[in-house]
Amino acid sequence: MKDLGVAVVTGASRGIGRAIALALGQKGYVIAGTATSAAGASAISEYLAEQGIAGGGFCLNVCDSANIPSFLSEVSASFSTPAVLVNNAGITDDNLFLRMRTEQWDQVIETNLSSLYHMTKACLKPMIKARHGRVVNVGSVVGLTGNPGQANYSASKAGIVAFSKSLAIEYAKKNININCVSPGFIKTEMTDKINEEFKNNLINKIPSGTLGTGEDVSNCVAFLASEMSNYINGETIHVNGGMYMS
Ligand code: NAP
Repeated sequence: MKDLGVAVVTGASRGIGRAIALALGQKGYVIAGTATSAAGASAISEYLAEQGIAGGGFCLNVCDSANIPSFLSEVSASFSTPAVLVNNAGITDDNLFLRMRTEQWDQVIETNLSSLYHMTKACLKPMIKARHGRVVNVGSVVGLTGNPGQANYSASKAGIVAFSKSLAIEYAKKNININCVSPGFIKTEMTDKINEEFKNNLINKIPSGTLGTGEDVSNCVAFLASEMSNYINGETIHVNGGMYMS
């Protein structure tokens, strides 16, 4: 298999990030997947090894910006500098706006949006030097539609889109493409915690009447990381089974 270089995938311990790490690994990338705990990092190394994928798991809290340079030094020393960065790590912490605590706002913005500032800045430098790079940011359908109880989360995901477009313009001449994938309602631990009644109402809004899978999202990320998407830049591809239309 062709060695495509290193792909950093944040939040690769489970859910969509795990599917992305597997999809990119199967295409021939060396995977540097992150989790917030040592146990999560080991679990990443294990599932990559089980699938015969080169790479490993690393412990990184994307909110600890001071640790990002040492994480990248470790990745570069173990493998090489990243050719692909997938900013996937994300959290929800929902509340109706007037009940939302400042910590809920800050934590979600910090994890879902500010982390992209730090991670992308650190990874862009070697990409510029290599005159090649791909950044794929994981947004959400609610970044476009808004969602009651998710002012923090929706704002963070809308911010990702404008952030990606701005960088796409700045770095296009360096052969670096920066795009977003915006999932709809995907079956992961994040959506498992939604109460059944609310979940059923959401499913009724999806034309197919089904939840998406991690693989539905990871296929799209793999496309945007590949040479097949060379002329796509600053775009957002929606993976929501048509949910946005209804
Ligand atoms: P998930 O199952 O809850 O997994 C979240 C991942 O993010 C885990 O790997 C977690 O690591 C990591 N993470 C959380 N906080 C982190 C931090 N501070 N630093 C580093 N890593 C952190 O979520 P998911 O459903 O797969 O979601 C993945 C992405 O897709 C998120 O950006 C989410 O907003 C987006 N998305 C999901 C859906 C959906 O329906 N599921 C829809 C639209 C968008 P640990 O295991 O170490 O905690």
